[in-house]
Amino acid sequence: MAAPVRHTDLYRLPWTLPDNAISWLEPTSMCNLYCDGCYRKNESNAHKPLDVVRQELDTFNRLRKTDGVSIAGGDPLVHPEIEKIVEMVASDGQKPIINTNGLALTKEKLLALKKAGVAGFTFHIDSGQNRPHMKGKTELELNDLRLHYARMLADVGGISCAFNATVYGHTLKLVPEIVAWGQEHIDIVNIMVFIAYRAAPVHKGYEYFVGGKKIDMSPITYAIQKDREITIMSTDIVDEIRTKYPDFMPSAYLNSTERPDHFKWLLTMRIGTKDRIYGYVGPKFMELGQTLHHLVKGRYLAYTKPKTLKKGKSMLLFSPLDKGLARTASAYLHQAMLTPRVLFQRLHLQSVMIIQPSDFMKNGALGMCDGCPDITVYDNKLVWSCRMDELINFGDWVRAVPEADGAGKS
Ligand code: SF4
Repeated sequence: MAAPVRHTDLYRLPWTLPDNAISWLEPTSMCNLYCDGCYRKNESNAHKPLDVVRQELDTFNRLRKTDGVSIAGGDPLVHPEIEKIVEMVASDGQKPIINTNGLALTKEKLLALKKAGVAGFTFHIDSGQNRPHMKGKTELELNDLRLHYARMLADVGGISCAFNATVYGHTLKLVPEIVAWGQEHIDIVNIMVFIAYRAAPVHKGYEYFVGGKKIDMSPITYAIQKDREITIMSTDIVDEIRTKYPDFMPSAYLNSTERPDHFKWLLTMRIGTKDRIYGYVGPKFMELGQTLHHLVKGRYLAYTKPKTLKKGKSMLLFSPLDKGLARTASAYLHQAMLTPRVLFQRLHLQSVMIIQPSDFMKNGALGMCDGCPDITVYDNKLVWSCRMDELINFGDWVRAVPEADGAGKS
């Protein structure tokens, strides 16, 4: 079993509010699905016109360096001018990444988006989505659907392919099998993302205020009254993955604004083939990648190009600088001595990202991702996309305050 995951052993990703790898654009809040855990109200035809999208991109460019722009929603593919939006992001010199459930993606649309300059797709596929014709399917039964989209992208070529899934209490045990599926398709799947389910529980013993005025939380999309498991931590997901991959070892992270040792974004990069994972890159390699990219391009790296991720063997040349790579190289060379044909196989890099969204703390504060990559624009300001519903409903952030006689009875 690998060592415990300690934040002081890992590379703290250097992402900040004004200088980040990613930003989050929401051109629509309309969606063609209703996912469990979505934090945006699904509104029909709530598409932003192009001049508003342009204004939001200008706000990013004015306030924040960014390498990739996640185009999300709602589902961005239902926006009637999605190709033009992709073109606008690309013409700013940034990588347009579409975050979608995939439902509206046809071959023709994919080709048009490629022509517009799309750099990647993140497909959100999990069992909490109520997909038509997929009701009752388990996480593992959805692997065929994941493969359908991965192959679509691979056929077109040159587009990064990521999958994300929300992890609920009852699906945590299935995560290792999805990670194994990712290995089986390591040649065409670049990133796997697991997001611990979160919502805003309306806690007993707390009152909620906006600007000194007590409010009722019920209009907030992500406020829940019922008891649900919202305490899965990133490290629980790591422990679960280690039941199948005992050496699984993250190398980089973002901490919580409330806790330096909470992993809000926890990044692991593995190197291998469909048959075998040879090892995991270490913190130095991650630091090298982010620092060199910033030196050369002036911004931190998001979404490495698929053709670079096929160059696992070349990456092993950095072994003298990184212990994780050195261990990977040694495992690979050992195998090559036993089975020389592995020398003719490609070695792929694949990322596994674990996200633990905002956590409610006992004093009523919220632990947010420090250096949030999913910052979006609201009213010409940079705001957390996961809490934007508070601004939409109340014009400012909601604060939870423990009742005088009920503090901490969450
Ligand atoms: S703070 Fe919220 S919006 Fe930002 S990365 Fe974390 S969960 Fe996403």
